[in-house]
Amino acid sequence: MMSLMKPDMQMDESFYKIEDIRQLTGNAFSIKLPKARFAFKAGQHISLGIVGGNQSREYSIYSGENDPNLEVLIKEVQNGYFTPQLRRLKVGRVLEIHGPFGKFGMEPELAAHGKFVFIASGTGIAPFRSIIRTYPTIDYTIIHGVRYSEEAYDRDQYDSKRYKLCTSRENKGDYYGRLTGYLKSCTFAPETHFDLCGNSDMIFDALEILKDKGFDRDQIHCEVYF
Ligand SMILES: Cc1cc2nc3c(=O)[nH]c(=O)nc-3n(C[C@H](O)[C@H](O)[C@H](O)COP(=O)(O)OP(=O)(O)OC[C@H]3O[C@@H](n4cnc5c(N)ncnc54)[C@H](O)[C@@H]3O)c2cc1C
Repeated sequence: MMSLMKPDMQMDESFYKIEDIRQLTGNAFSIKLPKARFAFKAGQHISLGIVGGNQSREYSIYSGENDPNLEVLIKEVQNGYFTPQLRRLKVGRVLEIHGPFGKFGMEPELAAHGKFVFIASGTGIAPFRSIIRTYPTIDYTIIHGVRYSEEAYDRDQYDSKRYKLCTSRENKGDYYGRLTGYLKSCTFAPETHFDLCGNSDMIFDALEILKDKGFDRDQIHCEVYF
């Protein structure tokens, strides 16, 4: 949360005009912007503000490194400060983007040879879409925890054999219950890398489960959203 953006600022390198907005559910949407003018590693995040506003928030990059557009996936948080403003934006509005930030970026060498389990709650799937779009041959399984199956954002873009949906409020996924329940029932190869992204409660519980299964902390990387 930073930066004061004045309404009559000239267009500059950090300004991006919204090209498209895809409504994915009643309260989740993606914002498509021009191609990033900075190099980033799939998995990293940016800070995003509305030009003319006085706040910014962090968002994982949802698009791949080589995609023609920079894209983010956003869920409107009820009573949140910033996301209701984002929700009201229309194509053509200008956003101020800074970044990339964070160490949650995939290294090409590891992507080529590693075996990955991506564990995401809600919009925490965003960095994993970026990674999979950047490295289409990566050896991955996604475990995605949501409340309702409609929150399986862009599910058709993943290999269905590699995508496991856990739905906690209705029986319409691959597993009915929290993703941590599913995780407990899984067996993984010892050399697996685990990447966790989403809310801190999920990450804390998943870390404990992986620890109990005997995995080393340095095989596990986490990105906490809130
Ligand atoms: C590194 C990083 C990457 C992030 N990437 C994404 C992303 O790709 N997509 C995305 O939607 N969000 C992402 N977030 C969360 C985002 O930065 C904001 O916190 C979120 O959009 C809420 O902003 P707000 O101003 O509406 O809510 P605020 O007014 O700042 O917060 C209101 C309350 O909502 C809680 N909250 C925050 N996010 C959520 C959520 N998703 N669901 C439920 N409660 C929440 C906060 O903890 C707080 O208690 C990321 C956060 C971090 C740190």
